[in-house]
Amino acid sequence: MAASLPVIAPPLPPRVDGKAPRGVDAKAPRGTARDRRDWRWQLRHAVNSIEALERALPLTPEEREGARRAVSEGFPLSITPHYLSLIDRDDPACPVRRQCVPRAEEASEVPGDLRDPLGEEAHEPVPGLIRRYPDRALLLVTDRCGVYCRFCTRSRLVGDGGGSIREEQLAGALAYLRAHPEVRDVIVSGGDPLVMSTERLSALLARVRELPSVETIRLATRCPVTLPQRIDRALVKALRPMHPIWVMTHFNHPKELSKASDRALATLVDAGFPVMNQTVLLRGVNDDAEVLEALFRGLVRRRVRPYYLLQADPVRGTGHLRTPIDAGLAIMARLQGRLTGIALPRLVVDTPGGRGKVPIAPEAIVRRATGKTTLRTFRGEEVDYLDPPAHAAPSRR
Ligand code: SF4
Repeated sequence: MAASLPVIAPPLPPRVDGKAPRGVDAKAPRGTARDRRDWRWQLRHAVNSIEALERALPLTPEEREGARRAVSEGFPLSITPHYLSLIDRDDPACPVRRQCVPRAEEASEVPGDLRDPLGEEAHEPVPGLIRRYPDRALLLVTDRCGVYCRFCTRSRLVGDGGGSIREEQLAGALAYLRAHPEVRDVIVSGGDPLVMSTERLSALLARVRELPSVETIRLATRCPVTLPQRIDRALVKALRPMHPIWVMTHFNHPKELSKASDRALATLVDAGFPVMNQTVLLRGVNDDAEVLEALFRGLVRRRVRPYYLLQADPVRGTGHLRTPIDAGLAIMARLQGRLTGIALPRLVVDTPGGRGKVPIAPEAIVRRATGKTTLRTFRGEEVDYLDPPAHAAPSRR
């Protein structure tokens, strides 16, 4: 029962970036405090037209052009009042703004850009189910999100009006999973599955949970960041019977660690949902070791594990948001050793074409000889590690 759910999160320490509590910067649609706590009100009042965006923010010419294109032909625009309130209206370089306000550069293609960078369409054995690895599969349950992130890997289909997964598609996906018991981990994604009604989502998850071969369900959602009001007691009460459910979320900047997000994360963690975070490395948003250190420390304080730092996928129209591989390696070299291991994610490239994720790291092996490896520490010192002599191995009979 909702009333019996313990809320035992300790008070949070001061803000990780040391700044004063943030106020409502952008002119978010008004409503009473009660309205603003209602996730459906947040969705109904999301900014999704040029006129509403112009009312909310003084737009630059590049943003106005990007918004015009987004509402007429490109990847649509949607910004919840909550996420809008985190934007600095006087700063076109605001890291929250760069993630959600379209820009003219989205019309440009650069070498390597792909419409479907992870080759998902080629790895879709039945409609709505993507399988790129032996033991896990991705179930796409809706095309909708509270905020359309300008770097989205699935911009080709997110917000395209397809709506929620149809019954025959879901039945086909479940039949596939039943026939493939080697798939033990189902990632429920979209779009954002948490924009579905609690009844619909919990009924869908219950059908996945009925499959005896499925050990883990993962919910991939940006709601803790962009629509934290969605994470309420009723939701966790409805989903808890389907445990283990892991929540995979997506904080990219310490500015996103709002009070409402703190409450959402505490609600999830207190109800037994492990929460993991995947940060996408984005130019002008978080391509800076200090920013990421503040983000990762802030997440760990909120009991969220920084899981991946993802090299941005080469999605068509996102060249202005992507960084070279060397930028991520240099950031990891700065963070390694000065950030506790539980706050240090793995830097990962999801290889174009859907060949799978590849972890990358700054080079630590300086040289190798028989039985001896020279390693470089985070302080830059070179240290030899000697393998044990062959006779040290216990004999096996
Ligand atoms: S919430 Fe996820 S699926 Fe939706 S636009 Fe953002 S990145 Fe894409």
